[in-house]
Amino acid sequence: MSSKINKIAVLTSGGDSPGMNAAIRSVVRTCAYMKVECIAIYRGYQGMIEGDFKVMDARSVNNIINKGGTILKSARCDDFRTPEGRKKAHDELLKAGIDAFVVIGGDGSFTGAMVFNKEYNFPVIGIPGTIDNDIFGTTFTLGFDTALNTVVECIDKIRDTASSHNRLFFVEVMGRDVGHIALNAGVGAGAEEILIPEENLGLDRLLESLKRSKESGKSSSIVIVAEGDKSGKNVFELKEYVEEHLPIYDVRVSVLGHMQRGGAPSCYDRVLASRMGVKAVEALLAGKTSLMVGIQDNKLTLTPINKAIKGHTKIDKELIRVSEIMTT
Ligand code: ADP
Repeated sequence: MSSKINKIAVLTSGGDSPGMNAAIRSVVRTCAYMKVECIAIYRGYQGMIEGDFKVMDARSVNNIINKGGTILKSARCDDFRTPEGRKKAHDELLKAGIDAFVVIGGDGSFTGAMVFNKEYNFPVIGIPGTIDNDIFGTTFTLGFDTALNTVVECIDKIRDTASSHNRLFFVEVMGRDVGHIALNAGVGAGAEEILIPEENLGLDRLLESLKRSKESGKSSSIVIVAEGDKSGKNVFELKEYVEEHLPIYDVRVSVLGHMQRGGAPSCYDRVLASRMGVKAVEALLAGKTSLMVGIQDNKLTLTPINKAIKGHTKIDKELIRVSEIMTT
């Protein structure tokens, strides 16, 4: 499809993250600014298949920049994984006169967009929205900074009670495959140890470190554990293990869970979302497609969606070293 783009749709898909609303607002306002029609698609690809659309203008997105979640709702949609489901989606888009769409989501949503683009040559651009920061082609995804602030705030509070009772806390944070939240929040909150999926330091080393910390006179300890850490034990098993081997410790566990996904987006995420939305619409209007907007060296970039999906983010080795030095 190379004809002029007159109507752009926007949807949020997959796991939600703070900053999605700011990105929706940006896409809608950029369309208004560029005098292009804008359509909201509700409930991700499910709404696309069902034609759950709404015409948006600049005023439709008043007062949402500061809100967590997504006003368009998000959904997981198995039908979109089938050719029949995607055909229905295509029919609905054509019926509504939509020429292109911007999808805000994670790599699953991008895979869907890429498959759809290949099948129907339909212009698509992705904006990375996930708290995990696990998308190749961007240093930051929308929601990561907010999630870090949430986690650090929680750990600060846990530290207050931990130090009042000389306790050791294992705090589980999100990150099944990557440890970006654990590592960054761990450094930011002054954690004793940080267990991430990318590294297996072994349980002996954890015990050694906790022993040293007790001997050096620390009154409390916080160990951050990413969900997918490779110690072979979950937070509750880690608690039992440490209590068994280091009875001097009074151990507690805190699983932060879904609160990490919510809350008002940080200023960084709002600004990033605003920038990415403009870039996405501009890219579509310039005839570009199947790309993901990212930020690298504080410059907006466009990465082919297939690379964004296949690539892996790397854990920051320098930050690992900093965290080791800080726990001295
Ligand atoms: P995220 O975007 O957060 O990674 P998911 O992995 O749940 O979330 O993907 C969101 C949606 O993207 C899925 O529910 C599905 O509709 C669509 N999707 C994911 N993978 C594919 C695929 N291989 N083909 C078509 N659609 C897909």
